[in-house]
Amino acid sequence: MVWSDALLTKEERSKLLGAKNVGATLWVTGLSGSGKSTIAAALEKKLLERGVNAYRLDGDNIRFGLNAGLGFSAADREENLRRIGEVSALFADAGVVAITSFISPYRASRDKARQIHEKRGLPFVEVFAYVPLEVAEARDPKGLYKKARAGQLKNFTGIDDPYEEPLRPEVTLPTHQLSVEQSCDKLIEQLYERGVLKRK
Ligand code: ADP
Repeated sequence: MVWSDALLTKEERSKLLGAKNVGATLWVTGLSGSGKSTIAAALEKKLLERGVNAYRLDGDNIRFGLNAGLGFSAADREENLRRIGEVSALFADAGVVAITSFISPYRASRDKARQIHEKRGLPFVEVFAYVPLEVAEARDPKGLYKKARAGQLKNFTGIDDPYEEPLRPEVTLPTHQLSVEQSCDKLIEQLYERGVLKRK
């Protein structure tokens, strides 16, 4: 199979849609509890309020739908992320600002998602939601760290499974130091710098 380029360029599509943006993917990675979903939800709302078509891909709409058949083995986790990479690229190609929030602990799978986008000329922004493990564990919004510490949850990232920090993320958000508002501002600024949002 050969990927066939769309007849329309990103800019042509954007113009025909009357859009204020071109498509892109913001790939938010970080420990459980680092604030990925909180920031993704806040950013999605801010972008929509500006008339920018944004859409979140997260565990709720991916794990229970497209990837319902996948479990948590290493192979299934990799396949989960591969599909998320492909789906986010389709959203981005359709002119949407896709915001993914998955731990995505391995550099190799994040790099693969980046390659899928870059090969197709789609902007890809790796966003590192960074907090020290102690902070994430103290937040423990879903009670998962407690379960992992008690041995009820195996292979939990940060506890008994590694998290490979991004080496060159486009944006780092230390969410123990930045408010949700400040994190969103940094991301919006990045979208302007990348030409995803247009300055008028
Ligand atoms: P993740 O999606 O990375 O697992 P969540 O967004 O579900 O993380 O949880 C992060 C928790 O931390 C939430 O309860 C959120 O309210 C809290 N929190 C506190 N301060 C911040 C901040 N500045 N940015 C993001 N989340 C924060």
